[in-house]
Amino acid sequence: MDVVACPDPTCQAPAWLSDRWTFPSTDGPVEHVKTGCGAGHWFTPMAASLAPFRAPTPTTTRRPAEAVR
Ligand SMILES: [Zn+2]
Repeated sequence: MDVVACPDPTCQAPAWLSDRWTFPSTDGPVEHVKTGCGAGHWFTPMAASLAPFRAPTPTTTRRPAEAVR
């Protein structure tokens, strides 16, 4: 299963690809995918716009609310 970053910039959950298809365009076929994440976000972005999921780490992400466990 392909796991990508959720297209919602405020969401840090991993998203999975539930479908993919191709639309014809003047520049040639454009591949789109349907992504769903654990937070309930569903998007149908262009496949080329997807970013691979990277788990947030303390060095790259400041999450004060979760800093204290
Ligand atoms: Zn999300």
